[in-house]
Amino acid sequence: MNREDLLKVTNEFGSPVYVYDADKIISQYKRLNEAFKKVKHLRLHYAVKALSNLSVLRLFNELGSGLDTVSIQEVMLGLKAGVSPEKIIYTPNGVSVEELEKAVELGVQINIDNLIVLEQFGAKHPEVPVCIRINPHVMAGGNTNISVGHIDSKFGISIHQMPHILRIVENTGMHINGIHMHTGSDILDIGVFLHAAEILFDAAKNFKDLEFLDFGSGFKVPYHSNDIETNVEELGEKLSIRFNEFCKDYGKELTLAFEPGKFMVSEAGQFLAKVNVVKQTTSTVFAHVDTGFNHLIRPMFYGSNHEIENLSNPDATQRFYSVVGYICETDTFANNKMINEIREGDILSFKNAGAYCFSMASNYNSRFRPAEVLWYKDKAHLIRKRETFEDLVHNQVELKFDLNKKQSLEKEKV
Ligand SMILES: *Cc1c(COP(=O)(O)O)cnc(C)c1O
Repeated sequence: MNREDLLKVTNEFGSPVYVYDADKIISQYKRLNEAFKKVKHLRLHYAVKALSNLSVLRLFNELGSGLDTVSIQEVMLGLKAGVSPEKIIYTPNGVSVEELEKAVELGVQINIDNLIVLEQFGAKHPEVPVCIRINPHVMAGGNTNISVGHIDSKFGISIHQMPHILRIVENTGMHINGIHMHTGSDILDIGVFLHAAEILFDAAKNFKDLEFLDFGSGFKVPYHSNDIETNVEELGEKLSIRFNEFCKDYGKELTLAFEPGKFMVSEAGQFLAKVNVVKQTTSTVFAHVDTGFNHLIRPMFYGSNHEIENLSNPDATQRFYSVVGYICETDTFANNKMINEIREGDILSFKNAGAYCFSMASNYNSRFRPAEVLWYKDKAHLIRKRETFEDLVHNQVELKFDLNKKQSLEKEKV
């Protein structure tokens, strides 16, 4: 997928548009498999929430991947994409009993992260195997918004509540088939990961009939050219040894599971937008693109860095720009960035736009959500059409008012 290919995509499908490179998704999937080749049974569950397009889910299914889902709607998307229910793990947080019942009906692997739910579920469905989400209280990454394993996190059952978990399991006779943790995004320090893994091994010893241990995700990907990323090869080496030792002690070959989202799709994605206006002010040059945080919220929401390339002017000298959007809200994509000279009409590419970009897009300012394109076998395939005005209004019910009718107004007063 080179510069010319990307420009062709905007010519054909308009802007703004998300483009994903299938080859990159495939190579990331294979890379993680390769890193854990010493483990006999490895299962990767791609985290649907990162990028939930059906064609992308189909691609993962073809690769042999399972899915990690956090809502019943994601489960349904996975099933629709052809993934078999045993390969879908459902890890909800604070959902209703009805939603859990639906998951039982659909036959997916349920992962419970709350003691009360565990107790109620075990009493009602002792025969349904359940995985337990443990909170190991390990701090991942530097940002408390994306770190979900620390002491005040709402996710998981505290490792300190193990005696209570065991009592519930005994009282209900339920079958625990997996132990899970997910400590959050952007774990750079493999030591942190391995430390959390030891806590999971300890927890696992309490259960006799396990089939898998799920280490969640949190792999960090590079966000700019000199950025560091999680060394998955080193993690694979070290964790595989410990996992194999654990299985030996446990007396059974368990499955090692991961559920990466960002690692699988972040770098495969680019978001292409057109420059509407270049505006000089007393302090900077603004480049206004035909999108905003309604379509790509990560810079404003998490302070994330997305590298920007001017696809239309590759040989020009670089200047400093502030790249901003077109919605009525501060929507800065980048401040004071060196970019090849930008002219009105140029196409800019935002990198690392595969994960948590389209899936977090909204209709704010009543803008249409962008199209999505999958670059597969040297060809652009449209995998989601750009929205239309019809999409904006089709669920709305237009109330008819008649404010001049006295009677109805008086009735309301009574
Ligand atoms: C979001 C999420 C993931 C994926 O996290 P990434 O940082 O995108 O790899 C995995 N497991 C669970 C339970 C999640 O909520």
